[in-house]
Amino acid sequence: MPLKTQEEYIASLRDGRETYWDGERIEDITTHPRFRVPIAVAARDYAATEGGRNAVHAYRTEAGEAAHRVFQIPRTEDDLNARVAMMDHMSIVGGVTGVMMALMSVKDAVAAVNPKYAENIERLYAYVRDNDLRAAEVITDPKGDRSKRAHEQDDPDLYVRIVKRTDEGIVVRGAKLHITAASLVHELVVMPTKGMRQDETDYAVSFSIPVNAPGVKVINRSFAPPELNAFDYPSSAHHSMPEGFVVFDDVFVPWDRVFLAGEVRLASVLAQSLGLWERTGGLVAAVASSKLFVGLATLVSEYQGKERDAHVQSTIAELVCYAEMLRMGLDFALRHYETTPTGMIHPNVLAVNAAKYYYAANYHVMVRNLQDLSGGLVVTLPEEADLRSPVTGPYIRKYLATKSSVDVETRMRVYNLIRDMTADAYGGWHLVVALQAGGGLAAQRVMMNRTYDMAGAREMALRAAGAVTGEAQLKAAE
Ligand SMILES: Cc1cc2nc3c(=O)[nH]c(=O)nc-3n(C[C@H](O)[C@H](O)[C@H](O)COP(=O)(O)OP(=O)(O)OC[C@H]3O[C@@H](n4cnc5c(N)ncnc54)[C@H](O)[C@@H]3O)c2cc1C
Repeated sequence: MPLKTQEEYIASLRDGRETYWDGERIEDITTHPRFRVPIAVAARDYAATEGGRNAVHAYRTEAGEAAHRVFQIPRTEDDLNARVAMMDHMSIVGGVTGVMMALMSVKDAVAAVNPKYAENIERLYAYVRDNDLRAAEVITDPKGDRSKRAHEQDDPDLYVRIVKRTDEGIVVRGAKLHITAASLVHELVVMPTKGMRQDETDYAVSFSIPVNAPGVKVINRSFAPPELNAFDYPSSAHHSMPEGFVVFDDVFVPWDRVFLAGEVRLASVLAQSLGLWERTGGLVAAVASSKLFVGLATLVSEYQGKERDAHVQSTIAELVCYAEMLRMGLDFALRHYETTPTGMIHPNVLAVNAAKYYYAANYHVMVRNLQDLSGGLVVTLPEEADLRSPVTGPYIRKYLATKSSVDVETRMRVYNLIRDMTADAYGGWHLVVALQAGGGLAAQRVMMNRTYDMAGAREMALRAAGAVTGEAQLKAAE
């Protein structure tokens, strides 16, 4: 099956999917103004030219067919690096299709419990790859009262659960929130949001279902209004992507699409594998945006003639340190990759979690640094229409001038990008995304503690404290 064209991708979205926005059902998302930018963003990954299906985006499968690189199973360090290079040049819709990597990386563990589930993963992977489809990462449950477990909630549907099992399949009910691009993909790959205990078997469920399956409903939300002017909104005019509030209203899932149905010990295995690939994607984006912050901070400082001030230089050094720590964290995670029993490699789990944590925990301070250097124009700069007006334009050009080498229009574009990325609707969205997408800080703390060499650290501490032998001391303490 050849790679899809942009037109084929757009046509494939006209499949009767039940999707809502602003309180109304949208019959055809491909003609609705709300979806114009998001579909253009997603369709770019299907472009045959202009940086589209070149070596960055395509690879040959073992059968010799062309496929999108998002489906390439990394088996060498070069594969992993090629994947990261691709992630830098693809939309978030392609990014979330990385969920197929999460599934394939746990296939061995799944096979050990139930080989049929592993076959189902393999079949779904080949189907999505060979038809050049896109898939969403569908993991976050509403979770209700966080102090109670899934089966203890007042309403048993606050975590997605199996409500019926038949010879043909399972029926699932519940909702998954915040699902990136849910209305723009073909498959919803559902996983448990966390580990489940023995009495929560109905909640240990994983499967994939087409977006247009009966009973699936997607309620959309985005930071972006339908139309934005690219001068005033240089980033978000081209980059909006709705999240979906996805409801599973007694959805039938045939057995050949089920990856888990009650085997509780696999629930956390699936949840953690997705976390790794999501955080890797977040880290790749963070490496790029942190470098952009350095560039923006440098430009505004130069425009204002402040670039030699000691406080400016030290603030920029903080931004540089942040950008470099992230770049090195990603680089380390790729070089020190880990291997599954059947030879698939993935980024180093501890390194990805530590670097993603560092990014999220410090992002708001870096926004502060950039805004501190930029000044109030970040939010008060007049708009493009005022610049183009023969009445107001000359005043804007006169009073926004700084030095002869600085073009006022360029200065305005730079300020608009800072506002768009850090202080407007898109910027507000980013503040939350940095913290929550890929799991909040707590999720990374858990993974760091779980994967760090704690035994080695304790041993080192005991030796440093003069204990006779660390091992003996540890045994005595147990
Ligand atoms: C823009 C965006 C896109 C997203 N895209 C996706 C997606 O594509 N797919 C997907 O599945 N999810 C997605 N998410 C969801 C994201 O993974 C979650 O928001 C995140 O895991 C936090 O979960 P929550 O929102 O339910 O917050 P909560 O779980 O309510 O957490 C809020 C805070 O409460 C505290 N807390 C909550 N529970 C506990 C606990 N048990 N123990 C200790 N502290 C706790 C923590 O401090 C936590 O940070 C997205 C989120 C955003 C904002």
